[in-house]
Amino acid sequence: MLQLNVIIVGGGVGGLVAALCCARNGYTVRVLEQTEGEDLGAGIQLSPNCTRVLHTLGLASELENQACVPEAVEIRDWQSGHLIASKSLGTSIQRVTGYPYYHMGRRDLMRILRDKVNENPLIEMYWNTRAEGFEQRAGKVLVTSGKKELVGDVLLGADGIHSTIKDKLFGDGGRRFTGHAAWRATVPMQELPSGLVSPVAALWWGPKKHFVHYPIKSGELMNCVGVVEKNGWEEESWVTHGESGELRQDFTGWHKDIETLIDRVDSSDCYKWALYDRDPLSSWSVGQVTLLGDACHPTLPFLAQGAAMAIEDAAVIARCLQDATSIESALKYYETLRIARTARIQAGSRRNGRVFHMSGIVAKMRNLVTSATMADSFDWIYEYDPMSVN
Ligand SMILES: Cc1cc2nc3c(=O)[nH]c(=O)nc-3n(C[C@H](O)[C@H](O)[C@H](O)COP(=O)(O)OP(=O)(O)OC[C@H]3O[C@@H](n4cnc5c(N)ncnc54)[C@H](O)[C@@H]3O)c2cc1C
Repeated sequence: MLQLNVIIVGGGVGGLVAALCCARNGYTVRVLEQTEGEDLGAGIQLSPNCTRVLHTLGLASELENQACVPEAVEIRDWQSGHLIASKSLGTSIQRVTGYPYYHMGRRDLMRILRDKVNENPLIEMYWNTRAEGFEQRAGKVLVTSGKKELVGDVLLGADGIHSTIKDKLFGDGGRRFTGHAAWRATVPMQELPSGLVSPVAALWWGPKKHFVHYPIKSGELMNCVGVVEKNGWEEESWVTHGESGELRQDFTGWHKDIETLIDRVDSSDCYKWALYDRDPLSSWSVGQVTLLGDACHPTLPFLAQGAAMAIEDAAVIARCLQDATSIESALKYYETLRIARTARIQAGSRRNGRVFHMSGIVAKMRNLVTSATMADSFDWIYEYDPMSVN
């Protein structure tokens, strides 16, 4: 087995999980993260295809302490509240896949990952350290950050949709504004009427808009995401405060449950950002450098799979490196295993952006089809096993 010194650029979900997976192989790992490791808000859905990886890394009890396990995902009509379709999650998805589906705060997930990374003697974190470039020379990779130069055997670019590593490998550009703005807010659960406090992921479909809410923080908060087709507001930031009044205006005329949620939004915890994506890349690796997560396949949130794909990537890279005789062949094999699946998820997420927002007769037909097919529709996503795929 190769004994490797791994450098990872980016300490987000994908970078930290990759660090843990590589350390599990016995590799030494250094992670460069440009921020201090501050917590980003918003809730996150973690489906069994990625909780399988997190549990294998020994995080089951930490996750269980913070997460909510949803019983189902329910799709409703924006105006009448009529139930269009539902899919059981909870015990039924755990029975089929062997792993749970979680809803949790993104901050909580990141704190759990950081704690695990910090206690691992094989992993060294470089916070406040922005990678500026790299070179491949004499079988090594040299990564630069200011006057600092790190030398390793393999470089993983886990630096998100604005990836410096991707730009250096394949050129910049390709990112496009999708025409969607996303609101993200939380509501203290104790302020909600009992009818709204249920352990499900609720997805409300309406013309040119949709709204999602689900419990996080062991049921203390309701996480809300409202997506609207909106041009002229293209700021892509997780930390731009939004006016809850504008959020209310965007969802005027929606079902009373949505109005009740929006009326109780904690206005200090209300954000909006523009959603961007990029077409799939045909290659992710050059020599001893590769990409993972949003750096190579930024994914719209309409299948709730962006972080899950980054986590799957991390597990598959570590397995490919472990089994290979050369780094280059390991990275090429990793690409072979991953590109088609992540491109399918990117395309499906984009398509959902259109399907969720249909109106009129097309929406009625969509509802009939969804109600007939929903029960099995995500199985190909959830049953994937990154710990054994080959
Ligand atoms: C509204 C919304 C809801 C979502 N909901 C879900 C969900 O429910 N489930 C799900 O699976 N996914 C979800 N996603 C998608 C998910 O958040 C992303 O796909 C995921 O964060 C990607 O992880 P990553 O590690 O690849 O990138 P990121 O999380 O973006 O991390 C990249 C890291 O790299 C650092 N960095 C960047 N450049 C440099 C550099 N040059 N040097 C050093 N560090 C650098 C950044 O600071 C950052 O910490 C959602 C996304 C949105 C917008």
